[in-house]
Amino acid sequence: MRLILLGAPGAGKGTQAKMLAAKFNIPHISTGDILREELKNDTQLGKEAKKYIEGGQLVPDDLVTRITTEKLKNQACINGFILDGFPRNIIQAEDLDKFFINSNIIIDRVIYFEVNKDTVVKRLSGRRVCEGCGANFHIINMPPKKDSVCDLCNEKLFQRADDKEEVILNRLKVYEEKTLDLIDYYKNKNKLLTVDANIDAKLLFNKLIAVLKS
Ligand code: AMP
Repeated sequence: MRLILLGAPGAGKGTQAKMLAAKFNIPHISTGDILREELKNDTQLGKEAKKYIEGGQLVPDDLVTRITTEKLKNQACINGFILDGFPRNIIQAEDLDKFFINSNIIIDRVIYFEVNKDTVVKRLSGRRVCEGCGANFHIINMPPKKDSVCDLCNEKLFQRADDKEEVILNRLKVYEEKTLDLIDYYKNKNKLLTVDANIDAKLLFNKLIAVLKS
């Protein structure tokens, strides 16, 4: 199972990727999560990425392509993986294709999460993330049992700096200008599978499983 999840920020890629990774026992590679971890640990890479992430802009291609292909080379990815948030533009997609050709890897599916702009803004502004395990919650759609505390590991929940309204709008603009081109890119390669991502996370997960099994 080698999948790429494509879609706007807030389309639900991260939530579905975590559930799919657990179900199929394969790694979930999220460039956003990797970069946030580097930022939290104040590494050189984190320092380089900080201004782009906080402004809702794309981190330079070389840097993200390097960290993604390093992850893909891990033995853990031998039976499959789920790429979430990469590629984000045509240059990254072409570099990823080169890597796949050189490594004899064939992608099974690129799942495009189609979602309305209104849904995205509501999801992102209400999203809360666990400091400990990275689980996602939503203050209205998927509230934690205890206010601001993770159901899974009891750590505190926080709001991502780039989930503030002004940054959300920037991220959506970047998505429309750069990432949307990937829909045609993968359609032309006959890899694209489009799902309606406006629905509830559990419903979407069941739909995805059914589609992937077929
Ligand atoms: P995400 O968690 O996927 O929404 O990503 C959060 C932020 O990390 C993005 O707004 C970008 O600043 C950066 N980022 C994540 N993935 C990429 C990528 N493939 N290319 C460039 N920047 C990225």
